[in-house]
Amino acid sequence: MATATAPTPRFLADVYQAASECNKCSLCQATCPAYVTNPVEWETARGRVSLIRDAIEGRLELSDIADGPLSTCLTCDNCVAACAPRVPTGHIVSRARQELYAQQGHPWGQTLVLRSILPRPGAMRFLHGAARFVQVSGIDALARRTGLYSWFGKPGAFAEHTGPLERQTAYRRARSLPPASAPVRGRVGFLTCCYSNLATPAATEAAMRVLLANGFDVTVPTLGCSGMPARSLGDRDAMQEMAITNAAKLSTLEVDAFVGDVAACVGHYQEYGDIAGTDRQVGATASRVAGSSWLTSRFLEVQGWRAELGPLRWTVAVDEPCSLPVDGPERGSMRRLLELVPNLRLVGLNEAAMCCGGAGSYFARMPERSAAILERKFDNIRASGAGVVVTENVSCLSQLRAGAKLHAPEVRVMHVMELLWESISVAARRRAVLPE
Ligand code: SF4
Ligand code: SF4
Repeated sequence: MATATAPTPRFLADVYQAASECNKCSLCQATCPAYVTNPVEWETARGRVSLIRDAIEGRLELSDIADGPLSTCLTCDNCVAACAPRVPTGHIVSRARQELYAQQGHPWGQTLVLRSILPRPGAMRFLHGAARFVQVSGIDALARRTGLYSWFGKPGAFAEHTGPLERQTAYRRARSLPPASAPVRGRVGFLTCCYSNLATPAATEAAMRVLLANGFDVTVPTLGCSGMPARSLGDRDAMQEMAITNAAKLSTLEVDAFVGDVAACVGHYQEYGDIAGTDRQVGATASRVAGSSWLTSRFLEVQGWRAELGPLRWTVAVDEPCSLPVDGPERGSMRRLLELVPNLRLVGLNEAAMCCGGAGSYFARMPERSAAILERKFDNIRASGAGVVVTENVSCLSQLRAGAKLHAPEVRVMHVMELLWESISVAARRRAVLPE
């Protein structure tokens, strides 16, 4: 009697086994931000994984599912939290996008951004200067009023979403930081996100100042992009190149740890060992960088909080970036630090770990879907009664700030380090007025 043998995967052999572990239980349905805003089967993790498996086994082509199953996934992995066999859908979809581009070639505009602009700090500086000129000259205001940005596709969507850029980037602000508060406990290398550097520099500066106030010297190397966007958009070569370059640069620093304020980037740095580990030149270095990389809130929680905190009579909800590892200890670190702030009232947020629709460039690629996901997020935020929402990721911060303008102008959106820096500043002001 003939026995059935498992098909030989045509491609994506590295994720085929994981994709085969879906037992079709459907528990992932309700957790998927794409499905809840468009309830059709192919939007679920189950649907996407099943279609990718069909492609691997030859029943269809990846190009048949490029628009829809592969493009609408936010690779947020919120489904993984509900999945007993822990099918890593976000990773499987990312790998399928990479395979699709390997088969079809990459869109030229995306290639230009991922390979020629994001890895180059000089190109990002030029971009900041050009964007500031557009703002200061009034062209930005005109483009917003007339809807001109919509003519420029994704770059226009980014400009509109990010809003006016501040004059000083995070790198520039880092030049005038105070010394670490004595006694100094160690030295960290700061992982500055290329997008946060331009879009939310005050948040990054606050993270650096909080580290200094807690007794850590901060060294700020000028880095290119971590490679996270290349990963989620499916450009494996660009992702590896960025990891190799950054790991080589970081390895020259004499620091005790690497710390960053952007959950998605830090999570990506923590995978450098897997991404660049086989590179003969920097493989071992990349693994060391990965093992020493921390998200700021988790780093401070593990090291122990030391700075004096002043009271804030605020009602605060925590929005967990979905890029935090599903079972990782990073989930909860923000909340545990905020519990230290006197008078601060923490309230629960329904679907706190569900993606807000920012997801890197998702808001620009899928504007209508992103808007629907964001509206749902603000229904939950308004229901929480919070006056302040905190998060720890640049795309969440930008997306939630854009959402607050539309849906809840009374709600203030902050990076968790901005809130903690505010509390430290209150304590310092009180000390100045009420000397012991
Ligand atoms: S990764 Fe996110 S968007 Fe994709 S299927 Fe899972 S929950 Fe849905
Ligand atoms: S929860 Fe996991 S196992 Fe169940 S259907 Fe979804 S992906 Fe498959």
